[in-house]
Amino acid sequence: MHKRTVMDLDEWPYPKQPLVPLAETVHERMSVEIFRGCTRGCRFCQAGMITRPVRERSITGIGEMVEAGLKASGYEEVGLLSLSSADHSEIGDIAKGLADRYEGTQTSLSLPSTRVDAFNIDLAQELSRNGRRPGLTFAPEGGSERLRKVINKMVSKDDLVNTVTTAYGAGWRQVKLYFMVGLPTETDEDVLEIAEMAREVIRAGRLITGTRDIRCTVSIGGSCRRPTRRSSGPGSSTPRRPTGG
Ligand code: SF4
Repeated sequence: MHKRTVMDLDEWPYPKQPLVPLAETVHERMSVEIFRGCTRGCRFCQAGMITRPVRERSITGIGEMVEAGLKASGYEEVGLLSLSSADHSEIGDIAKGLADRYEGTQTSLSLPSTRVDAFNIDLAQELSRNGRRPGLTFAPEGGSERLRKVINKMVSKDDLVNTVTTAYGAGWRQVKLYFMVGLPTETDEDVLEIAEMAREVIRAGRLITGTRDIRCTVSIGGSCRRPTRRSSGPGSSTPRRPTGG
């Protein structure tokens, strides 16, 4: 078996006519893959390793796929997907261009879970320009800073709290945080820090908004190193996301 690699994604605007299920689905949206591969190299991530090298779709190619896909499917939401979408080198221009084009229509844009260090409030504002703020999703993955260094997620607790606080301050009320347990070298203290981080996020969110009406959903997935432990923070748990980030 040999791996085949499509080097120019613009030559493969796939799928041209997305299938639309007759039944209601969890994600009623059209997906456009904006790039393949990931440069980050998180240690637990198989997808980031096996989909190398990074290949980006062009702004023009993405615009054409969005237009053709919406026409063929009738969807009103477009998900700009990839392993780490905010890392596309032109994500700001892509989001602005699409937001300009679909301003005043029912069409909205979304990104999958975002690395804390790749999040940018201007980008988030573009994605929510039509008034919808469906919620932001971040993936710090490890509960403690020590563990995040082990898995190569170089995000501090302050980074996360500041980023989420900015989002709450800009009008978002729903934030999801993804974590993993069962990571190499993990101790119970690392796991307990997940709850502490969620508490900190809620505290900071309430402080900046002046209201108790904010939501933080914590989702914890187990790696295969040891049996899955699952718990939830101040919100309800959600299924593990399908992509990295
Ligand atoms: S977890 Fe996300 S950011 Fe890290 S290597 Fe995988 S896809 Fe890239």
